[in-house]
Amino acid sequence: MTGTPFTATTLGSARIGPNRQLKRAVESYWAGRTDQTQLRALAADLRRAALRSLRAAGLDSIPVNTFSFYDQMLDTAALLGALPPRVADIDDELDRYFAAARGTGKVAPLEMTKWFDTNYHYLVPEISASTTFALHPGKILDELAEAVSLDIPARPVVIGPITFLLLSKGIDGTTPVERLHELIPLYRTLLSTLREAGAEWVQIDEPALVTDLHADPAGLATQVYGDLAAGTDRPAILVASYFGDLGDALPALAATDIEALAVDLVRGSADAVAAVPTLRSKLLVAGVVDGRNIWRNDLSASLATLATLLGSAASVAVSTSCSTLHVPHGLGSESRLDDTLRSWLAFGEEKVAEVVTLATALRDGRDAVGDALDDCARSLAARRSDPRVHDDAVRRHVAAAVAEGITRGPAAQRRATQDDRLGLPVVPATTIGSYPQTSAIRRARAALRADEIGVDEYERQMRDEVASVIALQEDLGLDVLVHGEPERNDMVQYFAEQLDGFFATENGWVQSYGTRCVRPPILYGDVRRRYPMTVTWIDYAQSLTDRPVKGMLTGPVTILAWSFVRDDQPLSDSANQIAVAIRDETVDLEDAGVGIIQVDEPALRELLPLRSEDQAAYLRWAVDAFRLSTSGVADATQIHTHLCYSEFGAVIGAISDLDADVTSIEAARSHMEVLDDLNAIGYANSVGPGVYDIHSPRVPEVGEIVASLRAALDAVPAQRLWINPDCGLKTRSAEEVEASLRNLVTAAHIVRAEL
Ligand code: GLN
Ligand code: ZN
Repeated sequence: MTGTPFTATTLGSARIGPNRQLKRAVESYWAGRTDQTQLRALAADLRRAALRSLRAAGLDSIPVNTFSFYDQMLDTAALLGALPPRVADIDDELDRYFAAARGTGKVAPLEMTKWFDTNYHYLVPEISASTTFALHPGKILDELAEAVSLDIPARPVVIGPITFLLLSKGIDGTTPVERLHELIPLYRTLLSTLREAGAEWVQIDEPALVTDLHADPAGLATQVYGDLAAGTDRPAILVASYFGDLGDALPALAATDIEALAVDLVRGSADAVAAVPTLRSKLLVAGVVDGRNIWRNDLSASLATLATLLGSAASVAVSTSCSTLHVPHGLGSESRLDDTLRSWLAFGEEKVAEVVTLATALRDGRDAVGDALDDCARSLAARRSDPRVHDDAVRRHVAAAVAEGITRGPAAQRRATQDDRLGLPVVPATTIGSYPQTSAIRRARAALRADEIGVDEYERQMRDEVASVIALQEDLGLDVLVHGEPERNDMVQYFAEQLDGFFATENGWVQSYGTRCVRPPILYGDVRRRYPMTVTWIDYAQSLTDRPVKGMLTGPVTILAWSFVRDDQPLSDSANQIAVAIRDETVDLEDAGVGIIQVDEPALRELLPLRSEDQAAYLRWAVDAFRLSTSGVADATQIHTHLCYSEFGAVIGAISDLDADVTSIEAARSHMEVLDDLNAIGYANSVGPGVYDIHSPRVPEVGEIVASLRAALDAVPAQRLWINPDCGLKTRSAEEVEASLRNLVTAAHIVRAEL
């Protein structure tokens, strides 16, 4: 083997900074408040501090080039000369990069989509016939040099050619992966350039190999890594997989002359790895510390896993299962956590320490880390027996709800009862829930947080917002109103804060995309609803109008998807507990006289497993959890759901199985094709295809909306059609919203008159 084997590493780390310094620096550069020199200096400071702390923690191989000003896929597009041609004439390199990420007044940005099954979004490179790949290794070389100058055992990281192309979008009939042979020579050159610059190891990330994105991942792996490993003038190669099992690609990679392979042993199986004889000549980088979740590692269990692997590889290094990009920076800045809870958790910094502890045990034996093992065993035992984790009353309550059944009356009969009760016009007009989060709302929230105003004053201001949103909707002539959601910071956190079993972190920020960070709540115990969470708000909104106001809830799957979840029970059990809390809320809303309740599931698609063989089981429990949350009400109560992200593909059948009375669905960008797809699977309930794209500041014209509605009427009879925007309106300005909705209502009138 050419590279010296290392023993402790991580596949990458967060780059936004412990206090989101990079977010603020990039945003002030965008706003023109600082210049590029200042931005680059801050970025270098953050990188150097991160490298030093990983080194001080005891890692003996440290990833570099995992820093990014925006996104690692965009960095790879820049590295390979594959930025879209529309940004080519922007002279400055960094501005060109940001233009591809966010667009400018003149050019559209790249599309953004979810990175595998995480809540991180990457920018989708566009590959067309005119893309001419060329290597631009400036960034990676600079970051390598920076680390080398600090005496860091640096291991440059790049996304591999297979993953890069499989995640790119072909333009004008191009199939990106067919261009693989063009990238191989570039990667060869990159490898020799890195060798020359002093890299002993390089890490090439190929997470696409754990998915079904291509019919023959093993074949691709053989082709690419057979070729790259054949080069002599190169660093030792670590091919990194994560987020699942490699399947056939594992023996394929092991059969090439690469020096090391990283496998995800949190999601994937150690036995499959141990069974591959050709690994015996390689370094195995064992991802036993979960890079995706925030639980403290079970060190003894990890040591047992590592032990099963010791004979199967030339040597074994300990690692996180993937980059720690997906977890908060460190527990140090959480001051409100009680010590018990804290002892159950590991954020990014703590995970690195766990890796080092495990590597020490491998090298020096268990006794060398005896204290750490004891401490870990104590905290795991405490977690298992904590009354907040297991609450028999919750379990009995969930079992009783499940026993009531999750099937409502026949859909057509429900529709007839609801039509009688609600008396809505044909093709009713509504909105998805949120109205603009005005600066007044944000100011009030900040003042509440800073204790400048009390809860009463805050709620008074939010009621004023509700009143103005109701008045606006009456003035516009919408048929089914909403309260506007001003009191919600976030559609998941709002509920998590009110439910037992969740807690919110103070500083647990995780990058979602670019400079946008989210703070997922932590689901740690059985979920109990202490009191009605939304009833007073909806009740108040309803008291202001004679038109029906929808109750607004977030569904169990979405609450799970946007939280850190328990690892001590199946996701489906957690989903059912949340579902019952939502079910109880629907019943309280119904008792308060609310006739329409919307349960949003925008993340239904997001949790879909990466392998198609696992998808049916997921969809079964996800659909059942939604139905559990919505089947406690009478047939006369109309249940709506809302789904976004237009590529429904594998989940389209599940949408029908949700059996909501009305499904509002993102469709503006996919031009109503989703309606044909829904017809094809026999969806027979009502549907509100989004008639305009709320992601853009553009105000849609009446004619466009009329055209969309007419297209929708080709697919769906008027009795089952609703009209609404694509998604919630909270990111738009008040002026845009008012103008757009005025046109939407006018369009509804025109189309109704034609019927
Ligand atoms: N009801 C939510 C809103 O309007 C739905 C948001 C979403 O789909 N992501 O904001
Ligand atoms: Zn939406």
